[in-house]
Amino acid sequence: MMPDPNNEIFTGSFTQQEPIPEEGIAAALAVLRHGRLHRYNTAPDEISETALLEEEFAAFVGARYCLAVASGGYAMATALRAVGVGPGTPVLSNAFTLAPVPGAIAALGAQPIFVEVTQDLTIDLQDLVQKAQQSGARVLLLSHMRGHICDMDTLMAQARAHGIVVIEDCAHTMGAAWNGTPSGRHGKIGCYSVQTYKHLNAGEGGFLVSDDPQVMAQAILLSGSYMLYTRHRAAPPAEAFEPFKLHTPNISGRMDNLRAAILRPQLRVLPQQAARWNARYRRLETGLGQTPGLHLIARPEAEAFVASSFQFLLLDWPDQSILTLIARCLARGVELKWFGAPDPVAFTSRYDSWRYANPPAALPQTDRVLAGLIDMRLPLTFSLDDCDQIARIIRAEVSRIWQSPQTTTAKP
Ligand SMILES: *Cc1c(COP(=O)(O)O)cnc(C)c1O
Repeated sequence: MMPDPNNEIFTGSFTQQEPIPEEGIAAALAVLRHGRLHRYNTAPDEISETALLEEEFAAFVGARYCLAVASGGYAMATALRAVGVGPGTPVLSNAFTLAPVPGAIAALGAQPIFVEVTQDLTIDLQDLVQKAQQSGARVLLLSHMRGHICDMDTLMAQARAHGIVVIEDCAHTMGAAWNGTPSGRHGKIGCYSVQTYKHLNAGEGGFLVSDDPQVMAQAILLSGSYMLYTRHRAAPPAEAFEPFKLHTPNISGRMDNLRAAILRPQLRVLPQQAARWNARYRRLETGLGQTPGLHLIARPEAEAFVASSFQFLLLDWPDQSILTLIARCLARGVELKWFGAPDPVAFTSRYDSWRYANPPAALPQTDRVLAGLIDMRLPLTFSLDDCDQIARIIRAEVSRIWQSPQTTTAKP
């Protein structure tokens, strides 16, 4: 029997990730049994899980150096410090991102300069140049928000032309690439998160990668390496630390061996996991294609993405229609998040709610996009059939509302 798109109910959980692979559980138990959880607590001739993970992650993205840390937010703040950002420094960043990004900037006493978002959900490159000129900012913390990558060739050309140092926030692009270059390898530093909802799951954690020995020496010292930095393997030689070792404050944020043990087997299967995520994404995209009133996000040819979430736009819909859609979908088990809500809900906060970051009163283009932006997580516990069903439910409910007179009168 064909499912009835007007009545069927989805019963999966949008927040349930897959279990840790058995190999990771075994490795974690081994660490628990020997008790050497601190990264510098090793037996003679032992290489810590954390140091091995750093080598493996550096190889995975093709970076010279890698540092594993306590969170993605910590990685970004450390990256900013390592390029000299301090109190009062203007730092360009996306107006459309999640709170840890402006938080990392503001926590240093620096000032985020918010750049508009396009309908492709990427940073507006024209506005970027304009804001760089207006503010004099020479650092960009670029967030590949929700896995959407801007034209990195153009962005990097602009950055070179204007002397801007680029730090990439790859919380949603671990395993992704632009024109064959892994995300996080275009700018001076790449930052990643291994928090539960990202592409590897250690509960909390993150990485910084770079080819720059001075940046990485400072990052390692900042993370709390004491004078044990020679125990790192994906790190610059000891000489690189000399100019900094007595001048860099310790802001402890190391990763521990338990998390590293859980992560190493996950990293080995990330490409296969990425393919599974993308298969789910494409099923949703197909199921929602050509739905009147619903705008899908374009995915450029050059972008190799990892779709751990899904977005679409209901451009210029009245707020009330969007609220109705969200309520009706929720009643049918489909949990949609809306970036247009006036007050922050769960992870969907907007730039104007980051009051600590002195946000602008309005960003017209971003305001229009966020007012119509719907988001959902895509955990790998969803089957392909689940994705077809979710698409049928959204499509049916969008169509119902789009055909109603209130929505029609408000159409532009
Ligand atoms: C999750 C996330 C981060 C890093 O977050 P942590 O929770 O600190 O690991 C950074 N940027 C974006 C866009 C994120 O979603």
